[in-house]
Amino acid sequence: MELTRRDFLKLCGGAAGGTALLGMLGTESFLEAAPIDIPLRKRIGEKTTICPYCGVGCGAIMAVENGKIVNIEGDPDHPINKGSLCPKGEALYELANSERRLESVRYRSPGATSWEEKPWDWAIEQIAGKIKDTRDSNWISKDKDGRVVNRVEAIASVGSVFTNSEEAYLMTKLQRALGLVYIENAARICVSSAVAANTESFGRGPMSNSWIDLGNSDCVMIIGSNAAETFPVAFKWIIKAKEKEAKLIHVDPRFTRTSAKADIYARLRTGTDVAFIGGMINYVLDDMEQKPENYNTEYVREYTNASFLINQNFKFEDGIFSGYDSSTRSYDKSSWQYQLDGNGKPKVDKSLQDPHCVFQLLKKHFSRYDADTVCKITGTSEEVYLEVCRTFAATGAAGKAGAIVLSSGACQHTQGTQNVRAYGILQLLLGNMGVAGGGINGIAGASNGLGCSLQGRLFHWLPGTLAPPTADQQTLEEYVKANGQEAYIVSLLKSWYGDNATAANDYGYSWLSKGSGNYSFVPLFAAIHSGTIKGLICWGMNPVVSGPNSSYIREALSKLDWMIVIDLWETETAAFWKRPGVDSASIDTEVFFLPAASSLEKEGSVSNSSRWVQWRYKGIEPPGEAKDDLWITNRLMLELKQLYETEGGPNADVISGLTWEYGDPPDVHKVAKEVNGYDLETGQLLPDLTKLKADGTTSSGNWIFCGSYTEEGNMAALRDPSPGPFNIGLSPKWAWAWPLNRRIWYNRASVDLEGRPWDVNRPVIKWDPLTEEWMGDAPDGGWPPAIISGKYPFIMKPQGRGHLFGPGRLDGPLPEHYEPWESPVMNPMTSQQSDPVLKLWNWDKRGTPDKYPILATTFRLVEHLHTGSFTRNLPWLVELMPEMFIEISEELANEKGIANGGRVIVESARGEVTAVATVTKRLRPFSINGQGKIHQIAIPWNWGYMGLSKGDSGNLLTSCIADANTGIPELRAFLCNIKKV
Ligand code: SF4
Repeated sequence: MELTRRDFLKLCGGAAGGTALLGMLGTESFLEAAPIDIPLRKRIGEKTTICPYCGVGCGAIMAVENGKIVNIEGDPDHPINKGSLCPKGEALYELANSERRLESVRYRSPGATSWEEKPWDWAIEQIAGKIKDTRDSNWISKDKDGRVVNRVEAIASVGSVFTNSEEAYLMTKLQRALGLVYIENAARICVSSAVAANTESFGRGPMSNSWIDLGNSDCVMIIGSNAAETFPVAFKWIIKAKEKEAKLIHVDPRFTRTSAKADIYARLRTGTDVAFIGGMINYVLDDMEQKPENYNTEYVREYTNASFLINQNFKFEDGIFSGYDSSTRSYDKSSWQYQLDGNGKPKVDKSLQDPHCVFQLLKKHFSRYDADTVCKITGTSEEVYLEVCRTFAATGAAGKAGAIVLSSGACQHTQGTQNVRAYGILQLLLGNMGVAGGGINGIAGASNGLGCSLQGRLFHWLPGTLAPPTADQQTLEEYVKANGQEAYIVSLLKSWYGDNATAANDYGYSWLSKGSGNYSFVPLFAAIHSGTIKGLICWGMNPVVSGPNSSYIREALSKLDWMIVIDLWETETAAFWKRPGVDSASIDTEVFFLPAASSLEKEGSVSNSSRWVQWRYKGIEPPGEAKDDLWITNRLMLELKQLYETEGGPNADVISGLTWEYGDPPDVHKVAKEVNGYDLETGQLLPDLTKLKADGTTSSGNWIFCGSYTEEGNMAALRDPSPGPFNIGLSPKWAWAWPLNRRIWYNRASVDLEGRPWDVNRPVIKWDPLTEEWMGDAPDGGWPPAIISGKYPFIMKPQGRGHLFGPGRLDGPLPEHYEPWESPVMNPMTSQQSDPVLKLWNWDKRGTPDKYPILATTFRLVEHLHTGSFTRNLPWLVELMPEMFIEISEELANEKGIANGGRVIVESARGEVTAVATVTKRLRPFSINGQGKIHQIAIPWNWGYMGLSKGDSGNLLTSCIADANTGIPELRAFLCNIKKV
């Protein structure tokens, strides 16, 4: 029998004991020591967990002895990480044993200069009282038009993306019952634009394929991501693909660790992705015309809207699409719609020759993006650029697969949505969606960014991405007419209101608050600034570091009456009132700090970027008096229920009538089962979402998760690592993927009209005509192949076709290059300098090139996660990456007389940061459109004024200017200047 390292350690008495002994004795003497190890094995318990940091979702094993974690190591059975962890994962041991965690409730009274320790009972009572007072005295029952809205705008919530999904679900349930509408999390400012883009292109927002599937690719293009550094374990799958002769292309303003592993590195000026990809689209369309045999033209004709005819009034002139109203800075989208036949169906031209068909409009639009023009905009060498075009276009042949990997570098732009739309158009033209080794793989930066968002932690989503009702949807009928999804909303209402939700009262629909505006991240902080919002609940989020124009966010917090921070550490947000340079006595905000349990100290599920819902177990008790978020939410709601039952208040029935029976302490399995849902007639857990009904006989807290916890057990806890059908790494019995355990989305596009795989070596599904069933992955739509059923692969789009032309976005149906809001370059494409519909805010000062001639971008590091609160408190990681720095080119350093290691000040129109200068060849000046040398610098945003390693936050420099579709701010392209200290 072959003995793996893991088997060896197990035999030798548990991983921790084995590792420790190996460390102490060396391997040769280890066997002699084995008998001593037997009692050790008995003392050590092992439990599995999922890394709490990024969205890769690596598995780890906690070895617990006497109530302490004595070792954490990668889970060798886990199909994604197979035992490996990156530095952050390796530092989990320190997280488990940190002495820097806050272990008791802290309170800061108005004007105080220090915290006081308080007991939990006092804090819960105080907080519930504050929430009730603020809610009741600011209750909005009707809007200015007299419509019932029953909402509160005076309390906001931000976070979370790191809690378990069950915790996030309960937070949403509590907050929506109170009538809150300002509910946001970090996904808004991280990757929301990718969700908007992919929803337009394919019907759904997140990653289409999976980490493991990257290993199946023939070519991976990483753009807007330093994946090797920010998602290192996932990157191993790309290396695996490379070992099988796949090509890796990296497109980025900086030469990074990802570039170092790439076959082709293409440099581009930050904020010019649309031009870069627009040129690739142009290349593919030209090449397809000349050599159609090199492309899967059937895929393009049948599975995209290439053949659909667009309204004859559609125009694009000098950077502006038809329908633009300059007074409102918005588009009327009516001329972007399809021409319809007498039956109301879109007209098509399968020959793709009609001048109004999408294919011809696409050709016309992108023909302006020739390689020469593109390279003048992006600063890329034309030789390298054409190599990128040739290499990635080669994945367009049937049977070839190319993947695009992106993360926040692509998304955090005013054109974030159109950047990712451009990637989507390219992938549809190349037939790369739905196939193994293909897809658009957007990486979630947080371990449960997806799971928490899907549980309704964003203002525009209830659990399951259901739209919250608006003021003009006064009845359930009006809601369903506008949004559909009747079975899902009724099942949600049955989960929330139980027997109180009946057909006679529209299942309690009237109890949901009705919104009338944009309650996203930037407007939320603007509403704090203006005094509309008086109380803020900050759930595991650190917006004074992660938010754009951080000074503005920091000032806003001083205007609050009260703030509650739930976190592991004393974050910059918790301590904003004692930040450097402020007089604490002048700040009247009351602050409650509630110490939270870490992921190692509680049980529940998280959803990684690949949409796998994975269960993690409790290893140890939280330190001191820290409590998990489920406990905190539960206690708070029990207190609020009691308050409203005894004292009453506006819409008190909604709070007292809300189902809330999880026990005290709450049972996470009860919550997980509620999220899954029940057949209310039999009392059985539902097996999947197809059983949900609109007649009030089913409940489900989140239809997307229906099937995650069934009568067969907790599917998220499944641990069979076998690769599954066709050996392509679907891993269908490891955890559970939403929805319906489908591992590769749009997989009906991986087969032809008759259900035969384009790629016989890497099929995802195939139709068996004898059994008349699909084989392989859970098919994306269970109907027979398109030729039989008439159902096409992109089932979330009205005609089942992927959108090359996307009429649903607010900033245009096709991506168009505009310069970033702050840019040293005049737009070479049109006279429209910047995106005509981007969101402007009057407090954001605009930097001009005369004063701020240098282009800047921000970036992340492997050692520190996001705002650093999770990592700058751990000595191992601080030792690896101890100090705030910036990267500048040798040329700029020479011009400014800056030495490597010297200190510099970087200024923008919003603020300044001081940092160590790293002079490097990784950055070089650009030559753009004959404008001479344009310097670009790069700034990490992982620092703040708390923790073991303190430094200025990169976001002191960035602006709140935002993408029109989602409000994601421009965090990646702005102007600055630099000087020696
Ligand atoms: Fe894996 Fe991400 Fe954790 Fe690193 S931070 S161990 S890549 S999940």
